[in-house]
Amino acid sequence: MRMTKQRKLILDVLKKSHMPQSAEMIYEKLPDDNVNLSTVYRTLDTFYGEGVLSKSTMKNTSYFYVSSQDHHHYMICLGCQTMYEIECHLDHLTEHVAKDHHFKITHHDMTVYGYCETCQKNMNLL
Ligand SMILES: [Zn+2]
Ligand SMILES: [Zn+2]
Repeated sequence: MRMTKQRKLILDVLKKSHMPQSAEMIYEKLPDDNVNLSTVYRTLDTFYGEGVLSKSTMKNTSYFYVSSQDHHHYMICLGCQTMYEIECHLDHLTEHVAKDHHFKITHHDMTVYGYCETCQKNMNLL
């Protein structure tokens, strides 16, 4: 993979972030003023296509995180937008479907959406 300076800067911001980041959030954290927002968007899309990054979407905004780094997924509350890091248990499943369909899986992505306990209480769902 070709690693230009811009790609490295963007990846560094994500590696240092504890939570998934949107393009705007990454853009604000970039130390280099020469990188513009559309470059950030484009680079994130490329990384996503290559499987370097995973993403979760909330209110039409994509939040990216590094896929390889201690592989995990996120569960997001649609009420308060809290993100919970969750373990991945998809390995067994992907192994199966790959075999059944003679499919060569490169990576996968998953996000769980719903409402946290507090939000359920606020909405009288409990
Ligand atoms: Zn909530
Ligand atoms: Zn996974």
